[in-house]
Amino acid sequence: MKKKLADRVLGLAPSPTLAISAQAKEMKARGEDVIGFGAGEPDFKTPGHIREAGIQAIKDGKTGYTDASGIMELKKVVSETIRRETGAEYEPGNVIINCGGKHSFFNLSLAFFEPGDEVLVPAPYWVSYPPMVALAGATPVIVSAPKEDGFKVSVDALSEAATKKTKALVLNSPSNPTGAAYTGKELEEIARFCLKNDIYIISDEIYDKLVYDGFTHVSVASLGKDVADMTIYLNGVSKTYAMTGWRIGYAAGPADLIKAMGKIQSQSTSNPTSIAQWAAIDALTGPQDDVEKMRVEFDKRRSIIVDGLNKIPGISCLKPQGAFYVFPDVSGVYGASTGDGAIEGSVDFASYLLSQVKVALVPGSAFGDDRCVRLSYASSLDEITEGVKRIGEAVAALS
Ligand code: PMP
Repeated sequence: MKKKLADRVLGLAPSPTLAISAQAKEMKARGEDVIGFGAGEPDFKTPGHIREAGIQAIKDGKTGYTDASGIMELKKVVSETIRRETGAEYEPGNVIINCGGKHSFFNLSLAFFEPGDEVLVPAPYWVSYPPMVALAGATPVIVSAPKEDGFKVSVDALSEAATKKTKALVLNSPSNPTGAAYTGKELEEIARFCLKNDIYIISDEIYDKLVYDGFTHVSVASLGKDVADMTIYLNGVSKTYAMTGWRIGYAAGPADLIKAMGKIQSQSTSNPTSIAQWAAIDALTGPQDDVEKMRVEFDKRRSIIVDGLNKIPGISCLKPQGAFYVFPDVSGVYGASTGDGAIEGSVDFASYLLSQVKVALVPGSAFGDDRCVRLSYASSLDEITEGVKRIGEAVAALS
């Protein structure tokens, strides 16, 4: 190419989590015996009745363009779902349907952030938040939420990082990559801090249905009208209903912001897939027993992976309250020798595991914490047992 690419892509790295899953899939396709802990998606199929709803939408010919911001029927269902689950009142006009949860955050970034704005992002963070904020020209301000604090950000850390330019805080509970989830009391403190300082809360609750040990998910939007008015609520069907490929996410928030997101969508993707929108209605309003079945299955895997990892010398893993990830601290093995060189950080550890024992996981540096690595337990119990065994053997082979 003769001309220079745009500055905005020059510093942009592709999603590291998608890259690792692609690499593991490629190795598998070559016939290699890889155990993949990289994927951020449920290993279940979309429940049958939702797939049927998609097929029915095709049969009914619901295959044309829809309103660019989504069909009113789905906006109504989303509005009712949020009201039922959080008590917060977001009218259908305060709701937009996007092409996945990632796209909701992207549209939100373009509609809300600009150069000069600062956005607080607690680390460990989902890999895509900082790049999307930066693509909008704003500055992601990383605030540490270390393992010692259960991977939850404190009001002290937030108030140290906040300036007059701070426009918003990104909260993700339960979290990708740590699985940490905030209690109502913790959210209340954070929300009061944000309100006092005029900081909007972007609340990504895409893992809200995947919580364990009797933990009750609390939405920040449920904390009262004053908080809900300062909250942009994000959710979607990808994780709860194993619908990653259907690409439906949604946002609810102040009407002018939602309308602005709609303008961006109308000049870029246009509507999310019509068929997927009709299927999403079925997901949100139909029987929920498959959600519970998947949750119970994830819960079993969570215990096995946490116990297994904690038995490996040099690895220490918190038991997360939600999502389907664990984020063990592996820094206890840093400095050890592989024979070819020393393990200096999470990238070295991940590439050592992939080459030595064919286990794929994501280095914590991708999420802003180099002491840790992320493993998704959205794989079978057999794979988890075998994968953890291999990690133990690889660590034992270090000197
Ligand atoms: N938020 C978080 C925290 C996520 O982990 C993901 C998926 N990895 C998303 C949003 C977006 O999901 P999707 O675009 O598939 O709906």
